[in-house]
Amino acid sequence: MYQQLKEFGAVKVNEPLAKHTTFKIGGPADFFVTVSTTADLVELLKFLDAEGMAYFILGGGSNMLVRDQGFQGVVVNIQTDQINISDTDVVADAGVVTVHLAQETVKAGLNGFEWGVGVPGTIGGAVRGNAGAMGGEMKDVISSVDVYRDGEVVTFSYDDCEFDYRHSIFKNQPGVVLRAHLRLKKTEDIAGKKKMIEFLQYRNKTQPQGFASTGCIFKNVEFVPGKQQFAFDVPEEFIKKGKISAGWLVEKAGMKGAQVGQAQVSPVHGNFVVNLGGASAHDVLTLVEQIKEKVYDTSGIELHEEIQII
Ligand SMILES: Cc1cc2nc3c(=O)[nH]c(=O)nc-3n(C[C@H](O)[C@H](O)[C@H](O)COP(=O)(O)OP(=O)(O)OC[C@H]3O[C@@H](n4cnc5c(N)ncnc54)[C@H](O)[C@@H]3O)c2cc1C
Repeated sequence: MYQQLKEFGAVKVNEPLAKHTTFKIGGPADFFVTVSTTADLVELLKFLDAEGMAYFILGGGSNMLVRDQGFQGVVVNIQTDQINISDTDVVADAGVVTVHLAQETVKAGLNGFEWGVGVPGTIGGAVRGNAGAMGGEMKDVISSVDVYRDGEVVTFSYDDCEFDYRHSIFKNQPGVVLRAHLRLKKTEDIAGKKKMIEFLQYRNKTQPQGFASTGCIFKNVEFVPGKQQFAFDVPEEFIKKGKISAGWLVEKAGMKGAQVGQAQVSPVHGNFVVNLGGASAHDVLTLVEQIKEKVYDTSGIELHEEIQII
């Protein structure tokens, strides 16, 4: 198998996934293949499908928790990096780093994707999860997506992608994002740069710094007037947006700072679990269950994970 996989990219055997996730958690993968061109990626996926091998895709590893036992099969690490900008149309490979693409679009005098400067990981992962920040989301900028599915490369139109809050069709059915087509708008270069700096300053103030994490653990919760009964007042801002912050619910449940092993609910942001150093996936999963129970007890709300647990 090792020799066969080598035809598609660099291969590592028994590779600790903790080295490849922003959480710095995760046991070993039997095989870890890094691909750097879309052509190699497609051929590798065809090969794995034909062999019936179990695999999963790893982009930037910034939205996942890999269990301590690791992964039996092949981890496909996408590091394709082509960007093409023509007028207001942008085409980016799945492996392009989201922060980098945001910077390139601003450099090209385009606007609409400045918020990407605060989102770790790759464009493939961002499309799959309809990533968003500071009021922007992938669904606002995507025009179509090229996808590998069942041995073929197909193009999904915007509507085919079925984007929703932190959701796309790629969460429901097999398919690997190969490339994203974005449509942006022309702008003043300086305006985009200013916006990026403001986004980053805001993040630095509101998110924990200096610890490994995987971003927000839970999805925010839809506000349904009349249906939810809280023992405390819900801030006007959440009611207006129609979304209750999961971090706020965690805080109300008294879980900020709670700790299991080396995993801690960040004292800065209730929706971040940080790895204080050497946390196991078991620590995190135990803490996540405790948070869900406490939030249910205090608010009657069932939280759902935003992160992928592998
Ligand atoms: C400090 C921090 C801050 C964050 N802030 C935000 C934020 O503001 N907004 C936000 O939305 N997210 C945020 N996140 C989460 C994360 O950055 C995004 O979800 C990101 O888009 C994930 O991309 P990735 O490449 O790292 O995905 P990965 O973690 O590698 O993968 C996530 C899932 O997508 C799948 N996947 C990856 N690539 C592909 C592909 N090409 N085709 C099909 N499936 C694929 C994987 O198999 C996995 O199931 C943050 C994370 C961190 C650590």
